[in-house]
Amino acid sequence: MTEIAVISGKGGTGKSSISAAFATLNCKVVLADCDVDAANLYLIFNPSNEEDEIYISGYKAVIDYSKCTNCRSCINQCRFDAISLINDKTVISELACDGCFLCSRICPENAIGMVPSNKSRMYSGSFRNGKMVYGRLAPGEENSGKLVNMVRSKAKKISGESGIETILLDGPPGIGCPVISTLTGVNKVVIVTEPSFSGINDMQRVMEVLRKFNLRAFIVINKYDLNVTLSARIKEWCGQNGIELAGQLPFDKNMVDAMIQGKSIIEYNPDLKISKEIHKIWCKILKTD
Ligand code: SF4
Ligand code: SF4
Repeated sequence: MTEIAVISGKGGTGKSSISAAFATLNCKVVLADCDVDAANLYLIFNPSNEEDEIYISGYKAVIDYSKCTNCRSCINQCRFDAISLINDKTVISELACDGCFLCSRICPENAIGMVPSNKSRMYSGSFRNGKMVYGRLAPGEENSGKLVNMVRSKAKKISGESGIETILLDGPPGIGCPVISTLTGVNKVVIVTEPSFSGINDMQRVMEVLRKFNLRAFIVINKYDLNVTLSARIKEWCGQNGIELAGQLPFDKNMVDAMIQGKSIIEYNPDLKISKEIHKIWCKILKTD
């Protein structure tokens, strides 16, 4: 079993389009969309959701109005400003509540209960190039790293059962908790960057994280021709730091057209220069130990 994570450090680099392309090359994969805050690969691949599981992301405070005397004691105690008085009634905002349990402990009438947040889901099933798992965190809910762990465990289980050896993880942007959960214990990491100052900065920040985990990294420069000077700077930095450049891809409007049609660029047209280039990059990543 080989786990390959595709991450970007910053959003908008084209990471998910490249993940989609990798997922539709010639070998079957277990595709795990770990961008649980904004999963979107399912929109392209329309997988059969054979299973869905509830993810309990935390707890929310709920007032039992048959017990509440409107004493207002809880309002000033909530440090998330989730409790307020609306039309003389004490109300808790579900979105703002952090689930810290404080109000439920201090309410003199025992009127506040804590209920599990059960709106987030993990789905698994089949898509046209193998199996797919993805999580969808409900708006305002937390603990996305835990949901990523759940997605990864499911992907590994499916890999073992189906005999599909390659697990491709499409990671979230940034360097926070869900990214760490995506990277822990993977075999290889592909960083998709672009030739912009923020792209370079975020690529370097994400590399600092990878060094701590001692992970094998490959850089892909997407849309390299939009700024060849900065692309050259990325290549130079890779060379100075001993990081492998897996390849560079030109800007190609076909990438957008493919997404609009619900296809990866490989499915859209495997004979395009960019499709062939992505194929070369994927083969290089698979072959390198
Ligand atoms: S502390 Fe309890 S009784 Fe008082 S307003 Fe809050 S929920 Fe109601
Ligand atoms: S559980 Fe914590 S965050 Fe939620 S309303 Fe009560 S005090 Fe505020």
